[in-house]
Amino acid sequence: MDIFDAVQSANIHQARVAADRAGDKVDNVAQRITELEMRMNRLALVTHSLWELLKDRHGYTEEELRDWVNLTDLKDGRLDGRVRQTTPPPNCHKCGRVVTRGLGRCMYCGEFATGGDAFDRVH
Ligand SMILES: [Zn+2]
Repeated sequence: MDIFDAVQSANIHQARVAADRAGDKVDNVAQRITELEMRMNRLALVTHSLWELLKDRHGYTEEELRDWVNLTDLKDGRLDGRVRQTTPPPNCHKCGRVVTRGLGRCMYCGEFATGGDAFDRVH
C-alpha cells in the first residue's frame, strides 16, 4: 500500500464514521419526534374528551370555548397560543423525587408516574 492508498483509506474510514454519527443523530431526532407525537396525541385526546364532556353535560358552545381559550392564554399576560403549567410537577410515589413532566416515568427509579393531573404527560 503506498501513501496515496493509505490516505485514501483513512479518508474513507473517516467518512464512514461521520456517516454513522449522522445516522445516529437522525435516529435520535426520529425518536424525539415519535415522543412528541405521542404527547400531542395524548393532549388532543384529553382536550377532545374535556370538550365533549362540557358540550354534552353542560351545553357550552364553540364561541364560549374560543373565548375561554383566549382567557386561559392570557393568564400569563401574553396572547401567544401557549399555556404555562402553574402547578408543581408530581413526586414519584416510589422514591419521592420530582418526576419530570412529559417523561411519564421517574428518571431516578424508573417507576411509572401516577397521580398528578391529566396534562402531566403532555408537558
Ligand atoms: Zn422514583
